[in-house]
Amino acid sequence: MTQQSTAGAEPGQVRAELADWVRGHWDPAMALHDWRQLLLASGWAVPSWPQRWHGRDLPAWADELVGSELLRLGAVGIPVGSGTWLAAPTILAHGSDDLRDRLLAPILTGEQTWCQLFSEPGAGSDLAGLSTSAVLDGGSWVVNGQKVWNTSAHHADMGMLLARTDWGVPKHQGITYFALPMHQPGVEVRQLRQMNFHASFNEVFITDARIPSENVIGEVGQGWKAALTTLAYERRFSALRRPGYSTASGRALDEARAEADDHFATYSWYPQRAGRPDLVIEHARAAGVSDDPVIRQAIARLITLQRASTWTAERARAARALGARPGAEGSIGKLAASNIARESAKVHSMIAGAAALLMGPDSPFGGVIAEVLMSVPGQSIAGGTDEIQKNILAEKVLGLPAEVRVDRDVPFSQIKHRG
Ligand SMILES: Cc1cc2nc3c(=O)[nH]c(=O)nc-3n(C[C@H](O)[C@H](O)[C@H](O)COP(=O)(O)OP(=O)(O)OC[C@H]3O[C@@H](n4cnc5c(N)ncnc54)[C@H](O)[C@@H]3O)c2cc1C
Repeated sequence: MTQQSTAGAEPGQVRAELADWVRGHWDPAMALHDWRQLLLASGWAVPSWPQRWHGRDLPAWADELVGSELLRLGAVGIPVGSGTWLAAPTILAHGSDDLRDRLLAPILTGEQTWCQLFSEPGAGSDLAGLSTSAVLDGGSWVVNGQKVWNTSAHHADMGMLLARTDWGVPKHQGITYFALPMHQPGVEVRQLRQMNFHASFNEVFITDARIPSENVIGEVGQGWKAALTTLAYERRFSALRRPGYSTASGRALDEARAEADDHFATYSWYPQRAGRPDLVIEHARAAGVSDDPVIRQAIARLITLQRASTWTAERARAARALGARPGAEGSIGKLAASNIARESAKVHSMIAGAAALLMGPDSPFGGVIAEVLMSVPGQSIAGGTDEIQKNILAEKVLGLPAEVRVDRDVPFSQIKHRG
């Protein structure tokens, strides 16, 4: 299938060209995999990417536009998940051509799912302090260590792995970024039970696991640079939204809906993690306190915060549409999301009183409010804590003096480790 270049195109022209192409190719009766192969070959899979890797060299705005147009036309786009959201842009930006050829297509068709193997028991905020080791042995790297809090690792095919390959240089310089095949004897994944009763993340124990040397993403020892790309994409939340697939019947649609059900089962508590500000007015009315002036003020403060944050996100989206890479606005949005979640949990508690702690059928909103209270703390930790976002903003945006880091310039082998 040949691709038509629409470089320099306007949104209206892209919309019209896409609609034309969908009319000629979309058949809901086909297998989802076959449909996505067509998408990849046509360049409509990720239109802002280069033509050689499933794109059309279009400006950045085209990805979101094409994604939502495909849904509007009743068709299906690329899958949602940390493969498409984090691994693929990292591989595109830092991977070799061989890696781009081998790894991008299976992510975009949904054949391979990914997880992020960054955090360790002794290295979270101080990610560059990680101590999982990788040693070159012939044509492959042998990896040993432990990762933790790895969302969806229990059903991932591949892992974005950071490991230390040089202990004799300062901590940021001795890290290498690998694509780790998860289904091998040296990789043991154990699910963790959370205080909100879900089990979305894992401990991953790695013992003499092997990674082919071609699976290094970027250069050996330059993994920190690639990791920063992944972390910048992680601060964007939009990729976690469930696609609004058509409810019509057809094999491709059935398979896409099943794929989304499977993926979002892990994330069913994420709306509660965000504090459910959408429920506060309904909650106040149901509890008969919507005329209480103190509660009304608390609700108004929350909605104000939420609106301001939506507009900031719109501004960031507009910047990305103009081609800007995700930057400091991700930290602002992430901090705002934490504040909204906390404020919302507070408002729900004011409304429900002690009943906010109840679970079960006769509790407020069938236990949803209790789940909010238990899930909101995760909002300000995942993807980098609030304090770390503040440090990023202080240093990168406000130009304030950098935090004192005594371990930055000494060889990693001389640092006392936490892990
Ligand atoms: C829902 C969820 C999903 C996650 N998914 C993944 C995943 O898929 N893959 C993965 O690798 N990890 C994942 N994580 C882990 C997450 O990235 C880490 O928990 C996070 O980076 C914090 O690290 P830590 O837990 O080790 O806390 P620590 O780094 O030990 O922090 C403890 C406290 O100290 C504060 N602190 C630390 N350093 C500083 C500093 N320099 N200045 C000021 N305050 C500081 C922190 O803000 C925090 O309050 C997930 C976490 C959550 C909650």
